[in-house]
Amino acid sequence: MNRRDFLHVMLLASAMPSTLLAMRTPVKYTKHSDIYFSSIDRECASRLLARLRRVQSIVGHGNFNIISFDYALKISKHYSSVGRFQKDELALFEKLFFIDASEYGFYGEKVVDNITQVFKKKEMLKVPHTGHFLYEGDAHAHYELIRRSIGDSIILTSGVRGVVKQMYLFLGKVFRVDGNLSLASNSLAPPGYSYHGIGDFDVGKVGFGARNFTTDFETTDEYKRLMDLGFVQIRYHKNNPYGVRYEPWHIKVSHL
Ligand SMILES: [Zn+2]
Repeated sequence: MNRRDFLHVMLLASAMPSTLLAMRTPVKYTKHSDIYFSSIDRECASRLLARLRRVQSIVGHGNFNIISFDYALKISKHYSSVGRFQKDELALFEKLFFIDASEYGFYGEKVVDNITQVFKKKEMLKVPHTGHFLYEGDAHAHYELIRRSIGDSIILTSGVRGVVKQMYLFLGKVFRVDGNLSLASNSLAPPGYSYHGIGDFDVGKVGFGARNFTTDFETTDEYKRLMDLGFVQIRYHKNNPYGVRYEPWHIKVSHL
């Protein structure tokens, strides 16, 4: 807050009852009480998650990262092993996509606001041996530079993620924390809010597995070299006010 705004607030404060003053507190700094799935949503979400998993098994893990919502619908219509998305599953998908995530306590920016956004394969490169895609241009060049500077022991662990993939990851996370949407959104951006939709990517140490997505990654030489060489521009710092976990493995590319 600059000095003029500060003075303005102080002036208002002197004329305001304390309850109104409390309402002026910037919303992103308020502590949120956790929001959980209702039992109806939970049952529906478990069917939706299972169906998305079956879509993934049809299109393959790599393609699943970037397929659009409409393409997932098409697959569900054409493959009896997937089965059509039920009305309530689609309604829940839409609800989770369009809801303002600050209701859960997530205050990051919405970067993909079109549920049917197509993530164009021809604008991306599939990175060999990873199953992930990067946008041609800045993102891919940045990754190549990281590999040239650090070596083959650093690898892409997640690249472009479309709306369907982010929904799949988010639902999986919500179930792992007992239906707690707030807690889930603390460690994984809800669909539409992930910078993986517009260019950012994750890297890890080859052979380090799931520990690449924990603070253990900070103990690796690969991370230290990333830091020393200035590759890590942290998107969400420790104790950030947005309700998002600090992720030292996340490489910021997009210029937002
Ligand atoms: Zn990331």
